[in-house]
Amino acid sequence: MTTFTELGLSDKLLAVVHACGYQNPTPIQEKSIPIILTGRDVLGSAQTGTGKTAAFALPIIDILASGRAKARMARSLILTPTRELAAQIAEQFGQFSKQHNLTTALLIGGEDVHKQTAVLARGVDVLIATPGRLLDHFERGNIMLREIKILVIDEADRMLDMGFIPDVKQIAGALPKIRQTLFFSATLDETIYGISEHFVINPKIIEISPEFATADTVEQFTYQSAPRKKHTHLCELITKENVTNAFIFCNMKRAISGVKKALERHGLDAEALHGDMTQSARNAALARFKNNETRLLVASDVAARGLDIAKVSHVFNFDIPNNPEDYVHRIGRTGRAGNKGRAFTLLATDDDALALAAVEARIGKVIPKYQGSPDANKTPAPASAPAPAPKNTAKTSKKTPNRNTASERKSPPDCSGNRFADSEHTPAFLLN
Ligand code: AMP
Repeated sequence: MTTFTELGLSDKLLAVVHACGYQNPTPIQEKSIPIILTGRDVLGSAQTGTGKTAAFALPIIDILASGRAKARMARSLILTPTRELAAQIAEQFGQFSKQHNLTTALLIGGEDVHKQTAVLARGVDVLIATPGRLLDHFERGNIMLREIKILVIDEADRMLDMGFIPDVKQIAGALPKIRQTLFFSATLDETIYGISEHFVINPKIIEISPEFATADTVEQFTYQSAPRKKHTHLCELITKENVTNAFIFCNMKRAISGVKKALERHGLDAEALHGDMTQSARNAALARFKNNETRLLVASDVAARGLDIAKVSHVFNFDIPNNPEDYVHRIGRTGRAGNKGRAFTLLATDDDALALAAVEARIGKVIPKYQGSPDANKTPAPASAPAPAPKNTAKTSKKTPNRNTASERKSPPDCSGNRFADSEHTPAFLLN
């Protein structure tokens, strides 16, 4: 097994990694860190929960260790779709860069623009932002992007779902062409490859098998319910299970308040978390959940993706997600860092049976019925029979074709080697 010492990180950072209690690198860290340290672009498929943040944050800190930010300039930029994810990344950067003299700034919507402007005025080494708020500051002239050396585009597939790609393109258009770009997405399908071509040049493609993210530490069950009984069944299930704390996911924002009220009627304290809440309300709800003041967080996918909260005992899918990827993300909120977790999915309609079939095909296994559910022993509907699972769909996708413009040097035919020598290619910024 590879150890952190073999990845090329500085001694100072190795001490930080040690202090964080990380024993060995995760697969995405093992594959990405040495490549990022060489300055090469990366196109990575990895989900949150796989140690992806440290995979890019650690080498970025080492790269930025020498040099200083100028006023109203940033040296690196991390773009991420949701405010919570941005805040989480900023927190991790703060933790990893304790021994370094690096400044970080978090630019997210819903927070005081004037305070953010004051921070930007001094110059920042690591700028972590959601696209909308960053464009806001850029257009007001509060921040200049021409000194950015490293761009990270995190959760590109979610950026696409949320309609942020045009904003990300606009931001990338204001950055120097010669830079290092790290592009991460939970999945790498044709669409994502196509989008990545706007940002990366001759990237090293790093794929972490999706199976890694659906941890064996999560026991999964379905619970057969009925449309009008879902609230009752959810409350019963929570009462029966030994729940320390849990995420409860709904597909629609308007279902969230109904679920919260139903839980409260059963004497169960719950917080709501969704994109229509003000940022301060979102922060407060999340803080109460993290501090164990509230055990239950009823959330939408947008608000909860990638949240890393230690020791969440359960995930309940009040609604089965329409997108199987979301299922993987949702259940990944529990069973983290070696802890055990349990995930329950309520089923109530024929459409739910179809969605279950898609989820089972995605994760490559049948999710057993919870034995305590009212009709646990009924034969399953034919729709829930899983289709054969693609082992790793990302691997079968088309590789990124070269995309040089007429004025650029020709790319080598295969850029998938681990070292520049493998790819017979020297990046432009190393030429002088
Ligand atoms: P992420 O995928 O970046 O959201 O990370 C998920 C969780 O894994 C975070 O709590 C990290 O602190 C933790 N983590 C990251 N790298 C490691 C590692 N090498 N060993 C143990 N835990 C880690």
